Amino acid sequence: MTRPEPALSVVVPMFNEESVLPLLAERLRGVLDGLGEAYEVVAVDDGSTDGTAAGLTALRVGWPELRVLRLRRNSGHQAALVAGLLRARGGYVVSIDADLQDPPEVIVEMLRRARADELDIVYGVRADRSRDSAFKRWTAAGYYRLIRRLVGKQVPAQAGDFRLLSRAAVEALRELPERSPVLRLVVPWLGFPSGEVGYERQERAAGRTKYPLSRMAGLAAESVTSFSAAPLRVATWLGLAGVAVCGVLVVLAVLAWFAGATVTGWPSLYVAILFLGAVQLLCLGLLGEYVARIYTAVQGRPAYFVAGDSAAEPVSAGRDVVELADTLR
Ligand code: UDP
Ligand code: MG
Repeated sequence: MTRPEPALSVVVPMFNEESVLPLLAERLRGVLDGLGEAYEVVAVDDGSTDGTAAGLTALRVGWPELRVLRLRRNSGHQAALVAGLLRARGGYVVSIDADLQDPPEVIVEMLRRARADELDIVYGVRADRSRDSAFKRWTAAGYYRLIRRLVGKQVPAQAGDFRLLSRAAVEALRELPERSPVLRLVVPWLGFPSGEVGYERQERAAGRTKYPLSRMAGLAAESVTSFSAAPLRVATWLGLAGVAVCGVLVVLAVLAWFAGATVTGWPSLYVAILFLGAVQLLCLGLLGEYVARIYTAVQGRPAYFVAGDSAAEPVSAGRDVVELADTLR
């Protein structure tokens, strides 16, 4: 049985989101049913350990457009997004967070813009982040400044993972050999015609953030090393500067020797050794970052495993067959 392709897919990665699930379902469904077009919601259950999976199964009973993609274990927001995007069937694919920080109503505007202006990518841009914590705003501002410098100005500032992609853009993503691209950098880099829709970032509707500082730092480090060799060059410059400073120190030491004051040379020796040691460690660390990337790339392990897809795996159909068999008996 091949289903007709929906006009729109909405990909929602979720990890332990049982508390927002009912709120999300109600609002998202209201918006999407109002479109009057065929759609599917691809809920990516990123290895949740709470009642998310059960909640999704229950929702599916009265909401045939809901499709559940289960990952075998928690693979992280980006991997869950990629899993959902690559399996979505819609002509347009929107990705949105489960916690209602991105208002689902904006999807209508995104779709309208994409069609009216023939855009392949429409970014949701946070026009107002006053509801985010000061710390989150501050780290986010630093992050966007950094990646715009490294990747280029085509990366829209304050655009997270709430965006619309056309089928062509999704197919271009599929072509990439990268297993776990940082989408908010790779998508602008694809070079499709794009537009923006501003929205107000809301507070999390329920539950707690799944992005602690360590994960934010991880995303930032991956964003930089996946797109730029500039840090390697920083190491080179530091190394050169270290050599220059040491050259000066050597001249000073020779002068001190002529002046007959070599015993007092202890501090300079000490400083030079410390400084060189520090530069070397830094360079090694930076090299390590890239070697680690090469290592994971060479291993070629998938970033996620799909344990089930309610669209492909006929869970309910299986039950239907059993029921049919029972009635025939
Ligand atoms: N998420 C996920 N896997 C993870 C962490 C988060 O699928 O390992 C989902 C989460 O359920 C939510 C979205 O990614 O739908 C964004 O996470 P969150 O709202 O916690 O991040 P924040 O908005 O605080 O940056
Ligand atoms: Mg959130």
